[in-house]
Amino acid sequence: MDSKTYAAEFLEYVTKKDPAQKVFHQAVKEVVSSLTPVLQQHPLYIKERILERIAEPERIIIFRVPWQDDKGEIHVNRGFRVQYNSALGPYKGGMRFHSTVNQDVLKFLGFEQVFKNSLTTLPLGGGKGGSDFDTREKSDSEVMRFCHSFINELYHHIGYHTDIPAGDLGCGAREIGYMFGQYKKLTNDFTGAFTGKKPNWGGSLLRPEATGYGVAYFAQNMLQNKGDSLEKKTCIISGTGNVGIYAMEKLTQLGAKVVGFMDYDGSVYDPDGVNEEKLAFLKDLVFMRRGSLKEYGQKFKAAHFRPGKKTWDIPCDLAFPTACENELQAEDAKTLALNGCKGVCEGSNMPCTPEAIDIIKENKMLYSPGKAANAGGVAVSGLEMTQNSMRVYWTREEVDQYLRRIMNSIHSNCLEAAAQYGMPGDYMAGANIFGFKKVADAMIDQGLV
Ligand code: GLU
Repeated sequence: MDSKTYAAEFLEYVTKKDPAQKVFHQAVKEVVSSLTPVLQQHPLYIKERILERIAEPERIIIFRVPWQDDKGEIHVNRGFRVQYNSALGPYKGGMRFHSTVNQDVLKFLGFEQVFKNSLTTLPLGGGKGGSDFDTREKSDSEVMRFCHSFINELYHHIGYHTDIPAGDLGCGAREIGYMFGQYKKLTNDFTGAFTGKKPNWGGSLLRPEATGYGVAYFAQNMLQNKGDSLEKKTCIISGTGNVGIYAMEKLTQLGAKVVGFMDYDGSVYDPDGVNEEKLAFLKDLVFMRRGSLKEYGQKFKAAHFRPGKKTWDIPCDLAFPTACENELQAEDAKTLALNGCKGVCEGSNMPCTPEAIDIIKENKMLYSPGKAANAGGVAVSGLEMTQNSMRVYWTREEVDQYLRRIMNSIHSNCLEAAAQYGMPGDYMAGANIFGFKKVADAMIDQGLV
């Protein structure tokens, strides 16, 4: 069978199997769209039914999470862990705590994670988990009771050599701390079964910054490959979580000028660009006080806050979606193109819709998919696991050197894989091909399990 027909039949099979899982289908389609030349050259992947096997999670755990709020009222949430693929190492991936979490979203994120982790070239399988529990507007003790209840079930299924969760939306060092504490209590075992821990009890320095810094390094690599640099490039960013804030910090340090960013209430346009003082203010506002960007507009004269508006209409050289899936749509991509934007670098997972990606590519903008550009976070999680095994702590500089090296190699591996299969310069194809082949080959080596 020719590879195009096979890929089309496979996509139909995936869609029919779980007809309601739309974001999962979107993620699978994006990967498979790059693989036809690979399947053509390596018919063994078809014979071995690697696509059918790789799209099916090895295991999904779904469980009840009962907890009590501060008034004594009882609530029930649903917990999940999608243990997607362990061909390259133990399952590894974050926990998302947000009201939008369901099996569809976690299958999409888990599927992406398999390829992203493969791209890091570290020994990491892929997984993802979470709950439809919203950590916003909950007290610390409510979050603690929820996390303990969540682990009361999940501790059976995770572990240092099995599955190592980390953070994601709504799950930061506070949540990791509560989950780790309960895991340790139940197992009587102090091992690095989680990453994203605080540095004074096993966490890696630079883990909070890693995803954002990695995105900036990747953007720098893309420009350097074109004989250009980040110097004076105007940038806009969407989310103002860990990824967004630290991407702003590194981009600024590398000479770029971040002129727009946004949160839930609206966006900020700051023609002067952020600097060290403004970043310190933002970190305090977002991380410590969980306040609104409105305050940034009030505090800094040149900047203004635009209630309810996204960032994408602010003219820029480079755009960095760093919030959530499908946040950058066809209309936004058109606006970016009209304003002369030269590149889109994804800090979050699958933030651009397929239509937006088409427009980005048609307009010859640089485009890097999240699974390549945002892999710095999970890469430093891998380094946290190494430090835990060795029972050592590396300095910020040491971790940063590794991070830079890993981002450089992801960048060159994407370019090489894309060129090898006839799609030179296509980072999306390169990321999908390199990520896929490493996992597929390991699956074949390990037989039908
Ligand atoms: N949630 C992050 C991601 O999407 C980090 C995962 C991890 O560190 O295990 O890659």
